Amino acid sequence: MKALIVDALASEKGERKATRDAIGAGTRSVAGVLESRRVDYTVLDAESALGEGLPQGYDLLLVSGMTQDIPAMRRVISMWKGGPTIVGGPVTSDPEQALRRTGSDLAVVGEGEETLIELLQAGLNDGVLPGVEALRGIRGIAFKTETGYEATQLRRSMPRAVYDQFKPSTSAIGYYSLFRSARVYVEVRRGCSNDHRASLGHSCESCGICKGGSLGERYDCPLGIPPGCGYCSVPSLYGPPKSRSAQHVRDEIAALLKEGVTRVVLSAPCFLDYGRDLLVEPEPLTDPRSPEPNYGEIEGLLSSLASLPRMASGTASFMIENIKASLVTEKAAKVLGRYLGGTPVSIGFETGSEAHSEQLGRPSTPRETLTAIRRLKRAGLKPYVYFIHGLPGQNESTVNETVRAIESSVEEGAERVILYRFQSLPMSAFSGHPSAPPTIRDPLSRRIHEAAARANMRAKEDMLRGVIRVVVAERYDRDRRLLVAYPLRHGPVVLVESAEPLEGKVLDVEITGIASERMVTGRPVAMF
Ligand code: SF4
Ligand code: SF4
Repeated sequence: MKALIVDALASEKGERKATRDAIGAGTRSVAGVLESRRVDYTVLDAESALGEGLPQGYDLLLVSGMTQDIPAMRRVISMWKGGPTIVGGPVTSDPEQALRRTGSDLAVVGEGEETLIELLQAGLNDGVLPGVEALRGIRGIAFKTETGYEATQLRRSMPRAVYDQFKPSTSAIGYYSLFRSARVYVEVRRGCSNDHRASLGHSCESCGICKGGSLGERYDCPLGIPPGCGYCSVPSLYGPPKSRSAQHVRDEIAALLKEGVTRVVLSAPCFLDYGRDLLVEPEPLTDPRSPEPNYGEIEGLLSSLASLPRMASGTASFMIENIKASLVTEKAAKVLGRYLGGTPVSIGFETGSEAHSEQLGRPSTPRETLTAIRRLKRAGLKPYVYFIHGLPGQNESTVNETVRAIESSVEEGAERVILYRFQSLPMSAFSGHPSAPPTIRDPLSRRIHEAAARANMRAKEDMLRGVIRVVVAERYDRDRRLLVAYPLRHGPVVLVESAEPLEGKVLDVEITGIASERMVTGRPVAMF
């Protein structure tokens, strides 16, 4: 049996974007499971699959993506002429929609490793979809039936020891054409510790359990309101945090560097939760602020990665993904600064209003977020702040406070403001709210957009004539005189003026101009 895995993450309609430079961790996890069962496989990204067609001779198609990637996923599945098709990843938080709109036979919901093993054991190993009775015995799936769709019970989130045994594939990275220059995500932990609840749109009885109960009690709201920030489904899909051992993470990164990877992102919904689950085991970690971060585990992981030869020589880099302000103590900022100086760190702000923040179920307040930005900046990191427009509860007063918060973030040291549109996600507390319209159709959201654009333009102007280290990806398809390059540690996409074939090379470039809100231009001044 041969499986074809198509990675559609962030491919949306399947068109190629110069700013798409990330390779998520999910596909390598699936590939790792297939390797452990000795199943032969190939990986393709959605753009290649749609541009070049699907290769022949495969028995099983696995496609992963998010809800916004459904158009690309549907196009890939419609081209498939072989055996069963399976979809996975965040798109399956609404399994029926995932099946109906992609046309797939089966959806794997939430954590996929154990589910995929059970499917293989039930018959998928022979390239055949197991019968309905067998499927009904497997948790965490949805599948087509003669009369419609059927979903089985959600799988319990894996215990830490089980999760830590799974080994994502490292050789699968070679299937991605731009793996030498892309940000390659390596999962260090899964799940979220924010079991606060959103009160907007629900008749919360204010029993206080989700903020004041014991760790075990916070897990279940008596009214069944999903845990976490109202716009997010991570706690519902993946449960409380569980961390991988530092040795396993280091082994995986060392193997990826050997394959030729240059930029690694330690992927986790909040990096400062890393190892914090160990402090409360066997209780679930359902409190986003207490206990404080597990400084020893965090420092152990970061110091062992910094000692990898290519990291130590500066020809490869690692960075973290995002953190919660509620865990950014002075001590945490200093530990991060020791190993991650000059790299970005993302921090969710979302709204500038204290009352709105509380209603959204956020783990931290706007005031705490500003303090966190200041601490991280002082420690030498480059804070990127995230806001969301069109959230339930947005009104003139929350927008005024959000515009002020964007300006204050920049004053405190935020290097970039990233604005998202509110998307209604299944399995989140706001699943019943409609998604927000584009900023152009909502004057209040437009004010947030303009404030973010002003802040980002100022940050780019500050970069002019500065020098940053980049890794070159490929020629720019809209202007063949330029090369697309990604900063090794921090900064926007750089269009490098050069006729030389520098793909895969690490360069220092001087920033010469601003090409757009997302890109600058530069010229090479040194090569490594
Ligand atoms: S959201 Fe649920 S657990 Fe939290 S206070 Fe309200 S009723 Fe209680
Ligand atoms: S947005 Fe972040 S803090 Fe909030 S529930 Fe999702 S992962 Fe947790």
